[in-house]
Amino acid sequence: MALRRRELLKTIATAGFGAVGSQLFDRVHAQSPQPNTKQDPPLALKDYEPKSMLHVPETHVPRSRFPNIDFHSHLSWADRKGQRDIVNHLATPAEILKVMDAKNVRIMVNLTGGYGPLLEETVRHWQQPHPDRFIVFTEPWWGKITMPNYSRFQAEQIETAKKAGARGIKVLKTLGLYLRENVTTGQLVKVDDKRFDEMWEAAGTLNMPVAIHVSDPEAFFLPTDRFNERYEELSAHPDWSFHGKDYPSNAELQEARNRVMQRHPRTKFVALHTANSENLPYVSECLDRYPNMYVDIAARIGELGRQPRMARKFFDKYQDRILFATDATPHGVETPQQIFGNELYEIYYRFLETEDEYFDYAPAPIPPQGRWRIYGIGLPEQILKKVYYENAARLLGL
Ligand SMILES: [Zn+2]
Repeated sequence: MALRRRELLKTIATAGFGAVGSQLFDRVHAQSPQPNTKQDPPLALKDYEPKSMLHVPETHVPRSRFPNIDFHSHLSWADRKGQRDIVNHLATPAEILKVMDAKNVRIMVNLTGGYGPLLEETVRHWQQPHPDRFIVFTEPWWGKITMPNYSRFQAEQIETAKKAGARGIKVLKTLGLYLRENVTTGQLVKVDDKRFDEMWEAAGTLNMPVAIHVSDPEAFFLPTDRFNERYEELSAHPDWSFHGKDYPSNAELQEARNRVMQRHPRTKFVALHTANSENLPYVSECLDRYPNMYVDIAARIGELGRQPRMARKFFDKYQDRILFATDATPHGVETPQQIFGNELYEIYYRFLETEDEYFDYAPAPIPPQGRWRIYGIGLPEQILKKVYYENAARLLGL
């Protein structure tokens, strides 16, 4: 087949040039390397690191044009150690402040502040020494779900958390995908389970925004096969797959969250990770339907940046309801798109502020969430101000 194509090309190339053209063609092609006919082992996908040959502008954005609030970070984690719940701080405030000052991050919101005594410890570590730089959210005490009076208990926990210093509530995708009737066994607890109604209401009354993560990228609900656009990511983290078993679909999870927002119109919900970033028409419908809904962009510039025209329109239309956020995790080596540091912020700023083309969405040799690159959306100053700071400030009552 290859030979026949070469012959054909030769015929075309030499048409009208006679013998001279034919000699020229032979000379040029004798110099080019011949395809390797030996059977080399195929290059493993994991070893493939293609470098872009595009000659396009590369803008370095060391600081955001306006001071920002990073609405989504994980500076600490609540964990279980034996029978006891403990809190792990992933860094010292000084370490984090150094990068914040360099990158123009005015305030960091540490979403995973824990519950009960863990929350108090998180507030002591981050918020108390630097109340103008760190904000801590609390989390529901999932381990207590089997309590007979859980509804009331959880609502009261939120009130106690507010008194302890928490400024909002963080709901991990635990709800909907991990939490079961007996915590780790039994049926999955639904996102719109009535037992949380008192908590959602309390959040509205106390003016505490709910940062809620439901579901995950759509590809996580599909088989990890050759058609899956996140094949490498899912191969590296097989436990991130929610395909099969008793997992609900992405659509069911999204709709359950919508019912919660509808039932609690006084409570403000920030649907984290742009709610469903592969499907901005759907997210737009949700935002139109639920005025108490907001979104953040944490860990989703890889999605937003590969659909720059759609994303740009989305930012235009919902400029008052989109929050700057990164999902930054100090030393988060397993997820390069989240490693807290200068590089992470510079990529986000480049995406939001420039019209650069085809650049990496994460500081990693291979795009970790999927093999594509992104495009900047060059937001105007007025929208940047809102997304970087004003929208979050309003929600947090600053
Ligand atoms: Zn997160």
